[in-house]
Parts: sequence; structure tokens; C-alpha cells
Amino acid sequence: MSEFFHSVTLDAEKCRGCTNCLRRCPTQAIRVRDGKARILSEKCLDCGECIRVCPYHAKKAVFDSMDRMQEFDYTIALPAPTLYGQFNNLRNVDYVLTGLLQLGFDKVYEVSKSAEIISETTRRLMETGNLARPVISSACPAVVRLIRVRFPNLCHLVLPLVSPMHAAAKAAKVEAAAQTGLPLQRIGAFFITPCPAKVTDIRSPVGPDQSWVDGAFAISDIYPRLLEKMNRVEIPEPVADSGALGVSWASSGGESTALLREKYLAADGIENVIAVLENLDTEQVGELEFIELNACSGGCVGGVLTVANPFVAKARLHRLRNHLPPASIHPESNAASMRWENPLEYTRVMQLSDNLTEAMTMMQEIDRLCALLPGLDCGSCGAPTCRTHAEDIVKGNALLNDCLFILREQAEAAGINLSGLYHRTPEETEKPL
Ligand code: SF4
Ligand code: SF4
Repeated sequence: MSEFFHSVTLDAEKCRGCTNCLRRCPTQAIRVRDGKARILSEKCLDCGECIRVCPYHAKKAVFDSMDRMQEFDYTIALPAPTLYGQFNNLRNVDYVLTGLLQLGFDKVYEVSKSAEIISETTRRLMETGNLARPVISSACPAVVRLIRVRFPNLCHLVLPLVSPMHAAAKAAKVEAAAQTGLPLQRIGAFFITPCPAKVTDIRSPVGPDQSWVDGAFAISDIYPRLLEKMNRVEIPEPVADSGALGVSWASSGGESTALLREKYLAADGIENVIAVLENLDTEQVGELEFIELNACSGGCVGGVLTVANPFVAKARLHRLRNHLPPASIHPESNAASMRWENPLEYTRVMQLSDNLTEAMTMMQEIDRLCALLPGLDCGSCGAPTCRTHAEDIVKGNALLNDCLFILREQAEAAGINLSGLYHRTPEETEKPL
């Protein structure tokens, strides 16, 4: 399995090179060369921000078709709690779960149930005092990848537990195997996902050795079919098995609330997340015990594969919680089975070179080039900032005169008048640019 599998891809035909995605990417992983965007695989988090901002729908998320259910003898739907916030006036989760069963799944297992178990496990782990503080949630895979590539000093703080999605898949498949007698490989578990980052976390997990989830269906893809089924449900099957605490994980602050602790911080939206991590890196966050970070604005309700406005979805979930028990009662969870097999390790994708002397020389050259560049961070060279352009030059991936200002200076020095290449008509001169 490739270390850099990505669920966010580019449809080059549709790309117009407008640079919207270039300026939005939180890890500066996009370049625009020859009029087309390019994603630097090793830096991409699959957070989906570029999908959100592309006006030409050239960025896409990879997810599975529901036809994949045919590959298995028995299928399980793993609905993210975010799914419940997509429906208006939902008072009973069983309508959604029964709708999923009518779509052809043999079983549904709520991810919110596993969220409650993970919360309980985290509480107990934190009480042992064996976790470094403040503990950073590992639930959002885009945030975990961000820490892994940009914040080496914070890797040891990330909660080493699988996310509710992985825990739900494992529990559901083991349960289904016991109920049906089928071997595990004939049972397929499919996550109903709000985001592409979760798809990447299934195909190429960070922490667990491998995922028990077999595929992911986008909420936006399944929504119309599910709504149609739900509208026909008269008496739903009583399958719901989680409470308000688990469902609250869908929006920012929900995971922290479920921990029943006071000294927490919850931040959402990738820029805010980066600001918190930068503060934490320089030890400016005070006496915190837990930090919950969601790459999407509002939390998973803001995922790019949802259909409802995140604020509306959050309000709906708030109302739904009034109709749920506080939490379901779960048998004693086995913390060891939820532990990551692999500690989170820094990935040196942002580093210039593994050789310190070479890295220092490259850094000096970058500084020299930055002094030559205009410092406008205009993106017209195809890199998001003048500094990243200088880095690209030093790595041999760009030329100094990809910068239009440098090109103009060079042309002027050679006696070429570039301004003569385009003459505005008097009418055009009247129009604002
Ligand atoms: S936002 Fe990015 S992917 Fe979309 S058209 Fe502009 S450059 Fe291309
Ligand atoms: S906040 Fe939720 S929806 Fe957004 S990237 Fe993270 S896991 Fe996905």
C-alpha cells in the first residue's frame, strides 16, 4: 500500500489554473504549473479545503460506489454521527438506521456507539496519568497528518487510540462473524463518510497497522437514496444503540464534552487548528488536559462530503440530543484492543535535506532568493508564496523567472518592452480590471 494514497485528486481537464486552491492549501501542497494545478502528494493532508474552494469543481474526492457491497456476503453500514444532522426534524435515529437497512445493508453499527466507548477508554487512560499532557485528539485524520508533517515536537501528545470509525468496524465485524458464522473476509464494513480524509485513513491508516473498514460511501452520494427509503419507513426497527454523548462527536467540542473534564480546548477550521498547534509548539496554551482539533469548520458537520449547511446540521444535532439517552451502557471496553500499533512519527516532508550541512546551504540560498523576489506572495509564479517559490527553485523544481516581476526585470534589462505585448483599447481602459 502506497504511503501517499490520496482521496483528493485533480481533474486536469476542468482545472483553469485560477490559483484559488493554491492560496487555500494549509500545507502549501499545491503548485500551478503550465496553467494546471498539481498536488504535491507528500504534503497533502486530504483535508478537502481545495475541493471546497475550487470554482470549477476540478478537485474531487475519491470514495466507493455502493456496487462494492456486491463483493461481500454480508454488509455492515457504519454511519458517522454527522449523518444524523443531514435530516430535518429527526427525532428518532432509528429512521436513518432502518433506511440504511432498506438500502441493502445487513446490519448497521453506529460509529457514535464506538465514540462513547473511545471517550470512556480515553477517560480511564487519562486517569492513569500515563499520557503526556495535553492529550491531543486523534479523531480527525487530517489533523493527525498535519501534526505528523509539521509539528514533530507534538507527535508524542497525540492520543494513541484508534478513531471511532476503526473501532466500530472491528466491533461490528467480530459481532457479525459470531452471529452468522461467516469468515471475517466475507463481511464488508462501509463507513458513511463526511470527508475524504477518512477515506485516506481507511486505505492508508496512521496508527493502526490496517483498517477493519472495507470502504467508504460519501454522505452526499448516499443521501438522496437514503432519504427516499426513510420517507417510506412507517415503523422503524429499534436498532439505535448510542446516546447524546456519542452523537455529539459530530460537531466541534463534542468529543471534549464526552470526556467530562473541564480543562479542554476545542478548535475547528484548519487555520485555527494550525494557530493552536503553533501556540502549543511554543508552550503557550496554559493548563490544558485535552485538545480537540477538527480540520473542518464546525467539526465533522463541516466535512466536504456532507449536504447540509454545517450550522444547520449542528443545530439539528443539538435538538436531536434532547431525544436521546445521555449515553448507552457499554460493557467494559478493552483499551488494549484500541491502542495504535504504531506510535505517531514525524515525517520529514517539509525538510530540505536529511544532510544537515546541505540543508543549511539550501536555507541560505532560499534566503538569498527571497531577497530578490518581490515578497508579494501573489501566486503568479505557481507557488503560494515567494518563500515556497524560492524553495522550489533550490530543489530544482522551478526557475527564478517563473516570477513575473523577475521576468519583467530581466526583459527590461535586455531591452524588451513586455508592456507592449498587450494594448488595452480605450473601452477596456474605462473598465475596472
Ligand atoms: S481552484 Fe485549483 S484546481 Fe480549481 S481551477 Fe483553480 S487552480 Fe485549478
Ligand atoms: S473534521 Fe471531520 S470531516 Fe473534517 S477532515 Fe476532520 S474528520 Fe474529516
